Formats: sequence, C-alpha cells, structure tokens
Amino acid sequence: MSILICGGAGYIGSNINKMLSEKGYDTIVFDNLVYGHREFVRWGRLIEGDLSDEEAIEEVFAHNQIEAVFHFAAYAYVGESVTQPEKYYYNNVACTLNLLRAMRRHGCKTIIFSSTCATYGVPERVPITEEMPQNPINPYGATKLMVERIFQDYSAAYGLKFAVLRYFNAAGADPQCEIGEWHIPETHLIPLVLDAAAGVRESIKVFGTDYPTPDGTCVRDYIHVYDLATAHLLALEYLQKGGKSDFFNLGNTKGTSVLEVIEAVKQVTGREFKVENCPRRAGDPPILVGSCEKAMTILGWEPKYADIQSIITHAWKWYQKLAEQL
Ligand code: UDP
Repeated sequence: MSILICGGAGYIGSNINKMLSEKGYDTIVFDNLVYGHREFVRWGRLIEGDLSDEEAIEEVFAHNQIEAVFHFAAYAYVGESVTQPEKYYYNNVACTLNLLRAMRRHGCKTIIFSSTCATYGVPERVPITEEMPQNPINPYGATKLMVERIFQDYSAAYGLKFAVLRYFNAAGADPQCEIGEWHIPETHLIPLVLDAAAGVRESIKVFGTDYPTPDGTCVRDYIHVYDLATAHLLALEYLQKGGKSDFFNLGNTKGTSVLEVIEAVKQVTGREFKVENCPRRAGDPPILVGSCEKAMTILGWEPKYADIQSIITHAWKWYQKLAEQL
C-alpha cells in the first residue's frame, strides 16, 4: 500500500513526504513540477504528471495500491488568482475532480487536503474557529472553499473520508535543513525579509502601516512547516482509526505583525537593512489569527516550534544553504 502525495514536490508537500517516509510509509509524489522542485523529492517515488491529465492520474491508481491521498497540488498566488481566475478555478477545482474521480474508481476513500485561512476572508473576530463564516475575498480562497464543499458532498454520496486542514501562514524550513521554502516568484514576507537581510534585495517593503492593529501593520499567525507536517500525519492516523471527516485550523493562536517579523529577522540574522513603508496591498485582511484548539483536542496535535524566532532561525539556515546551491 502507498500514500499518494499530489503536489509533493512543493514547499509543504515535500515536508510531509519526508515525515511520512521516515514513519515507514511508501510514498508516491505526483507533481507537474511547475512550481515544485525535483530536488525536493528525496523520499519515495516521483511521477511527473498533471491533474488535468485524467489518464495520467488514472494510471497511478491502476498501477499502485493507494491507501490515502494528500492533496497539495494547487496554485496559490492570491494576486494572480484575481487577475487570472480561470487558471485557478480550472487547476484548483476542476483538476481536483479528476483526482476524486480516479480515487472513486479505485475505491480509495481517504483524503487529506491543504486548505487555507483565506477561506474565511475578513473574519468578524480572532482567533478564528472552524465554524466561523467563510467568505473568501479572492478567487484563490474561493477555489479552496469550493473543494471543501465538494468533499462534503462526496462524503455524503460516496463515503469519502476527509480531513481538511486550513493553514494560517506556513513558514520556516525543515529543522534538518534538507528542504525549505523556494518559491519562484517569491511573494511571502519572511523569505523576502531574509533577502533584504542577505543584501539580495535593497529593502523590505511594508505593505500598509495604517491598519487597525497595535503597530499599524498586518498581523498574521505564522506556523512552522514542521508542525504542519506533524498535523498531517496525525490527520491520517485519525482517519485510519475511523475518525469522522472534519475541518481543522492549523495556526499557533499567536499574532505577529509585519514589523515584528522584520525585527525578529534582524535579531536572528544580526543584519541591518532598509525598511520601506508602502501603501496597503490589495486584499490583505488586517488580522488573521487561528484557534488551533480543535486540532489539539481531536488530533492530539502539539506545535513544537510555535515561536517566531525558531521559525525564522530555520528559515534563515535554509535560505543560506539554498543561496550556496544556486
Ligand atoms: N508583506 C509585506 N511586504 C512584503 C510581503 C508581504 O508587508 O514584501 C505583508 C503582507 O501585506 C501581509 C503579510 O506581510 O500582511 C504576510 O504576507 P504573505 O504574502 O507572506 O502571506 P499572506 O498573509 O498574504 O498569505
């Protein structure tokens, strides 16, 4: 029996692949390598393919005994999703239907899905709990919410068992520094601040200093990619033990502002760099902080690297290693 990881060559999927492999699972990564990296598939087998290719995904199931699927294969650039919604609805929603069809045909009923806090839109209050209204404010969030809905209907009609994991801001790198964040193009705050610390970027731009937050900059809940990986593993075990299909937030219930991230990077790296105040970026909610109590109670999850310093320390170590290799 094998575990299929769609999008397992990406930042988060590769960390889960590593952890599953270390636990003794046989893993198959299915990835089109558009944003994923061949170099990240250091465990299990890589099948290069795209979920738009129905035959390709059908073949994976025809030739392997897949006991469960982890699904990370999605586009995730919020800004691009606004200007190119078709690309997002097609890839993130329609292609997921191809995966679900192949699963159904081959009697595979277990899926763990990478969802997002972007499904909540601008929350009424924080910390955000799972039953709060979901009103995404961009197509990316909408695609993830649609897939969540599809799972519910498939569960009722076909007996699909799912764990939907809604991530807050994934950050950090593998503590052993084998894999980490490597996005082309990069839009995320922490790697961009590290660019500034390394002198690769002239400055870090702060998008908005007039938000209704303690220091005027946006507040986010940064969660270490290692802790995300352990939650996925627990979600798999939970479903295997007969747990009911459910939705879980994965955050640290801890808000860190853009300026606090910048300060923490300065401390961790010991470097000074220019900070530029800029206008707000479209579509950014002022505060996103998640309550992770449900994951802790039901899955028995406990984050190991909940502080921003550990997250940035691992990210910096990885950043320097990647820079040497490029
Ligand atoms: N941000 C920023 N400068 C940058 C990149 C991001 O000020 O160069 C801010 C962004 O506006 C948001 C926060 O940092 O408030 C986190 O952004 P990121 O893109 O990392 O994640 P998101 O919360 O959008 O998923």
